[in-house]
Amino acid sequence: MTSVEVKRNKNKTKRTIIRVSIRILLVLLLISALISIKDTYFSKKLNRPVSAANSIKKHTPKPKKNNPIVKNAVVMRNQKTDDGVKVEDAFVKDGKKTAYLTFDDGPSTTVTPKILDTLKQYNVHATFFLIGKCIEENNQSINVVRRIYDEGNAIGNHSYSHDMRILFPNNAINVQTFMGEVDKTESILKGIFGQDFFARPLRVPGGYMSRQHYNDPNLGKFDKAIKDDNFASIDWTAYGFDAEGRPKNYLEIFNNIKRTVGNQQKVVILMHDTYGKEQTAKALPLVIQYLKAQGYEFKTLK
Ligand SMILES: [Zn+2]
Repeated sequence: MTSVEVKRNKNKTKRTIIRVSIRILLVLLLISALISIKDTYFSKKLNRPVSAANSIKKHTPKPKKNNPIVKNAVVMRNQKTDDGVKVEDAFVKDGKKTAYLTFDDGPSTTVTPKILDTLKQYNVHATFFLIGKCIEENNQSINVVRRIYDEGNAIGNHSYSHDMRILFPNNAINVQTFMGEVDKTESILKGIFGQDFFARPLRVPGGYMSRQHYNDPNLGKFDKAIKDDNFASIDWTAYGFDAEGRPKNYLEIFNNIKRTVGNQQKVVILMHDTYGKEQTAKALPLVIQYLKAQGYEFKTLK
């Protein structure tokens, strides 16, 4: 080897060492950069769910055994298709016109089917406040109740007997008797539709407003009882007057409804589907056509 060759070799080795060192340095830099990116990304990603999970753990109380609120939060089904509005929200104004068609005192095997035919024809749902005694009258009436539900309508509770002398002796609500009747109707409905069924909307026979009108001394106790059991009372703001005074024909019923609906943005309309209310059934197409023309949407109650 000449001295020149030795020098060249030395230089070559030096260059190789430098090249390798630079490469190692680059690789190290790259790794450290990757680690820092990864850390920031994951810490950001993990922070939120971790803190959310912590807050959930902190703020959610353990469900108590037999807690009525927890129990009834699950048991809320009173209709097949849930286009229902909670009773408490029925009159909350949102700029939209909403009509709640409600039928009391059924089921009947003569009028209720006619009303169901009309509702189906117009693709509209209503809420039926049923009397327990009428539901269990016979197999046919039970089938009518099934049909109410199967066709997407909602069901409410209208006591078991509807007997004013039993429910309001001396014109004061007997809370224990009343709630006993409500529970009886509720268990009949659960027998038909299953244990997860709950007809929460409650219509007081004669109307809650008549209890207020008579200054019923037991009203406070009654309010507490229905709240404790998660029922929700609702009256009406328009009426066809198809259940009192002299019998009316369908045009009179329709005109009464039209007049009492007025220009309410949210309106609960009372009609009756018990025996003998054929004129109400006959008025219903006119009522629906009128409300549709006025821009009302139809909702049920839950
Ligand atoms: Zn009634």
